[in-house]
Amino acid sequence: MGARTSYKSKHREQILAILQENEKEHMTAGQILDELRARGIAIGVATIYRQLDRLVEEGAVNKYMVDAVTGACYEFKGEHGGESAYVHGKCEKCGKVVHIERRSVEAAMQSLSGSEGSGFELDCTRTLFYGICGDCRRHK
Ligand SMILES: [Zn+2]
Ligand SMILES: [Zn+2]
Repeated sequence: MGARTSYKSKHREQILAILQENEKEHMTAGQILDELRARGIAIGVATIYRQLDRLVEEGAVNKYMVDAVTGACYEFKGEHGGESAYVHGKCEKCGKVVHIERRSVEAAMQSLSGSEGSGFELDCTRTLFYGICGDCRRHK
């Protein structure tokens, strides 16, 4: 029935809207779930994953693998397409995942792939840097 279809696509729109509002961030499925529930939208975890998978397939959303514990992050692709602006860093003290501007690691990337480098090109969607986050450093 048509009602079922529109119910489904409504979830799709709601998920996409949240990612779009947080265009400069990545969100985990759990964060998206919290955000939807905070808005009074009843949605199951399985539905979120199913809709996210479809959005990734359709090319509307980028998926980033963080690690086995944190899982995946999702980012609205927007007009500028596949280029990811952020790289992930994981704090070894508190386990928090932070977003590092791609520009700030660009220099390191260039020496990896540049003419004097190894020709290696970093995959930002799957790269995870380990370190200590700003909060943990301040509270040392
Ligand atoms: Zn992320
Ligand atoms: Zn930390």
